[in-house]
Amino acid sequence: MAKYAAPGRPGSMVSYRERYDHFIGGEYVPPAEGGYFENRTPVTGEVFTEVARGTAPDVERALDAAHGAARAWGRTSAADRASVLNDIADRVEDNLEALAVAETWENGKPIRESLAADLPLVVDHFRYFAGVIRAQEGGISQIGHDLVAYHFQEPLGVVGQIIPWNFPLLMAAWKLAPALAAGNAVVLKPAEQTPASIHVLVNLIAELLPPGVVNVVNGFGLEAGKPLASSPRVAKVAFTGETSTGRLIMRYAGENIIPVTLELGGKSPNIFFDDVAARRDAFYDKALEGFTMFALNQGEVCTCPSRALIQSSIYDRFLADATERTRAIRQGDPLDTETMIGAQVSVEQLEKILGYIDVGKREGARLLAGGERADLGGELSGGYYVTPTIFEGDNKMRVFREEIFGPVVSVTRFDDFDDAIKIANDTPYGLGAGVWSRDGGVAYRAGREIQAGRVWVNNYHSYPAHAAFGGYKQSGIGRENHRAMLDHYQQTKNLLVSYSENAQ
Ligand code: NAD
Repeated sequence: MAKYAAPGRPGSMVSYRERYDHFIGGEYVPPAEGGYFENRTPVTGEVFTEVARGTAPDVERALDAAHGAARAWGRTSAADRASVLNDIADRVEDNLEALAVAETWENGKPIRESLAADLPLVVDHFRYFAGVIRAQEGGISQIGHDLVAYHFQEPLGVVGQIIPWNFPLLMAAWKLAPALAAGNAVVLKPAEQTPASIHVLVNLIAELLPPGVVNVVNGFGLEAGKPLASSPRVAKVAFTGETSTGRLIMRYAGENIIPVTLELGGKSPNIFFDDVAARRDAFYDKALEGFTMFALNQGEVCTCPSRALIQSSIYDRFLADATERTRAIRQGDPLDTETMIGAQVSVEQLEKILGYIDVGKREGARLLAGGERADLGGELSGGYYVTPTIFEGDNKMRVFREEIFGPVVSVTRFDDFDDAIKIANDTPYGLGAGVWSRDGGVAYRAGREIQAGRVWVNNYHSYPAHAAFGGYKQSGIGRENHRAMLDHYQQTKNLLVSYSENAQ
């Protein structure tokens, strides 16, 4: 067992500044209107730094810096940009533990996840886009003997990026890596709950980037996010967050007729077909582990498998085993490497989740595990902990339909393949899904029938940089990860050239 020292305590790898300003044009700039807001750790509930409260003039200043840098950055060679991205990846890798502690302290997630998943994925993401940008090729079409169409991929220019709090560093990497690889300059707005870890990263990588290529404006949605997303000076908005906010972002962007990518909410089904329980072997064990994935990152994952669908013939046995496995999830100090579930990000999120647990009870869902705030004692008593919670009920209930964004799974049964698909698709969302079966044909057909952008088959919650990720239905527009993402940060320039000396 190992425990990382908390920031501010002796031996910690992370020391925060007392306050973080905006990062604009390569330097820290105080907020135009002078406001700051407190940043609290969900681990203990204490305030650990304060952050500039951005408003429209700060966004304008960041856009000035980005516009000043965009042209030169867009004209660098793909090889040069790839080299910068690789340097960023190396810098993150060299400081992986410190960044993991910063991420855990600010977001509440267990350090073992920050160390083994979030930060390695950040590194991989920058390396992946360093690779794909070098491999990208334009196109030439010979339209006539002397008439040639050249196709170039050009950067969009200056893009606005708005991210949520559940994977602060990884969401920043998902946005920054492809945008920078494609040659854009960026104004990024972190979530108001988790700006500090982004600044720990920015401090590490600032010297690797030309000033103005990456700018960070802190602040709240309406005060800083809206001026950015509605600015006629951005060529695109990339947004990750709630579906209701995504709707607003589309509206703002519509005024300026610019593209958006939206990564929004979900209510993902995790389907267990009966052959899973044919034997009590390693595969059965893996499926049980797959069930417990609803508690990963405290359930604060857009693809949280928050609806479990279990075939009737194995329902009682599988659910009993899955409940036992869920009860064994070790809750504790997020900075302890043995801890499997940490703290919810904020007191508002804690209250929202507890509110939904009440809703579930009131609408008649049966509580099989958890269902309460956990008091972990000592300093952690002020933190925001919820025990992993299992409800049993019906897909019509609110706990099956609405995104809770906490460690809560709602379980129901299905009779056959068609029934499973019907329940799985009976949701306005379409982000993720899980399918568990020993029968390749069943798994394949279910995967194709489910209306979701990512279907995990016999695994869950892996996010390799080179697999396309994004939503169907109200879960979003566009894809992240994968080289297809470059299309969302570039536009096609066609040069149609006649080499003929004659008219036509
Ligand atoms: P949120 O929509 O409240 O906030 C996201 C970001 O948008 C924050 O930076 C916030 O300040 C900003 N914002 C809020 N209102 C705004 C406005 N009017 N104009 C401009 N910006 C505004 O979401 P959240 O609570 O931070 O994050 C949780 C949500 O994110 C969940 O719904 C989750 O499913 C979703 N999410 C989706 C993905 C995905 O890839 N699909 C990944 C992670 C999280």
